[in-house]
Amino acid sequence: MTVVGIDDTDSRKLGMCTTYVAAEIADRLRQDGAETVSRLLLVRLNPAVEYKTRGNAALAIHTDFEPDLAYALARERLESLAETTDERTNPGLVVAAHDPDDDRAPDDVTRFAHGAIRDHLEIADAETLIDRHGYRSWHAGDGRGRIGALAAIGAWDALAEWTYEYISYREPDRWGTPREVDHESVFAAADWGYPDVWDTVDRGEDETVCVPHTPGPILHGIRGDDPDAVRAVADRIESEPVAASQLFVTNQGTDVHLQKGAISTVDDGRAYCLEGQVASDPDTRRGGHVFVDLVSPAADDPADDDSSDRLTCAAFEPTKRFRDRVRALRVGDRLTACGEVSDGTLKLEKFAVRDLVRTERVTPTCPDCGRTMKSAGRNQGYRCRACKTERAEKTTRDLERDLEIGWYEVPPCARRHIAKPLVRGGFDAPTHPER
Ligand code: ATP
Repeated sequence: MTVVGIDDTDSRKLGMCTTYVAAEIADRLRQDGAETVSRLLLVRLNPAVEYKTRGNAALAIHTDFEPDLAYALARERLESLAETTDERTNPGLVVAAHDPDDDRAPDDVTRFAHGAIRDHLEIADAETLIDRHGYRSWHAGDGRGRIGALAAIGAWDALAEWTYEYISYREPDRWGTPREVDHESVFAAADWGYPDVWDTVDRGEDETVCVPHTPGPILHGIRGDDPDAVRAVADRIESEPVAASQLFVTNQGTDVHLQKGAISTVDDGRAYCLEGQVASDPDTRRGGHVFVDLVSPAADDPADDDSSDRLTCAAFEPTKRFRDRVRALRVGDRLTACGEVSDGTLKLEKFAVRDLVRTERVTPTCPDCGRTMKSAGRNQGYRCRACKTERAEKTTRDLERDLEIGWYEVPPCARRHIAKPLVRGGFDAPTHPER
């Protein structure tokens, strides 16, 4: 058996798509006599990596084709399809002779795959492992693509949770032209397949999320927990002719990029789940982006905590109605917040409300005339000037809250490929899924 790993074939300007290259390689392997192409893996790596074109995808093909022949065939396909005229495209190919269903990938290769999803790796790290294990490899440009290609080889043993995407491709002469996909049929198919099939559409935004806007070869990609269901949903969509289609096994929708962390120790370029207390009133700034600060759960007075143990969280404009959830937070609410940290700010993907502040301290009102009392001076309580009534301190008032305990998430139109939709379940509190 052979595992073929590839990455970095596409260009933001010129189009192309590494899933398409992988599907083409799989097709050629079948034509040239491979008895089995048992699966194609679509592995999403660290979404914070600056070199990515879009979704930081790497691909692996599992086949019984002889390793040297698979290498030659894949290399020929990569050389002809990769957009190497873009100097930011640095394709890589790594071929391992092992049986993904019987032999485990070496531990250092599975660790590398984990690292590629949660961390930042060096080209030299990939080269060392490729040499150590005698893998065949090829690259163009600076060879960065070998990082993703090697990670795709290790991913099968590194990860425990898999989902599916059924991708339909356009006829090549239509690439770059507007896609003809019947909007209503996408919504009907999405309803039919939900909840096994998710993130097909965004009902709140009336958007067909499964249809990309980029110039590449994909017509639509249908994601879900069940391989038959994603295929059936794709079949129900009315559209221009489908030139080819391919099922991918993926780590999309799994949250495998998130690591547990603490507010005081987060690093840029990584994604975390953090416990904290809301420490500032949510602030909507220019462009409609919403910001709110979190401090450590141990802080006595979150509003006054000015330690370095403080992290700004952001819900940017594209997260749409999710921003209303963030705006509904109040100082003192306890949360688990998840997302990527960059430039010292956590870009919220989802959060769990653990505890809500239910009361607030307010200036008392006069029991006789009902007007708000005035401060009688520092530490001297409150007084109604007209009625001469007095109160020693602020009173407590119940708060109406628009949030409940549990998980809230960005809507499908703003979901990162690797982020887990709440509808998939397995969360540690009630969920409020977006669809
Ligand atoms: P698309 O999703 O459109 O296929 P992409 O977003 O996957 O494109 P690539 O063109 O594959 O982007 O570029 C990502 C590059 O970053 C690849 O060369 C890959 O090897 C490299 N890379 C991926 N993860 C890491 C990481 N954790 N550390 C360092 N480099 C990485």
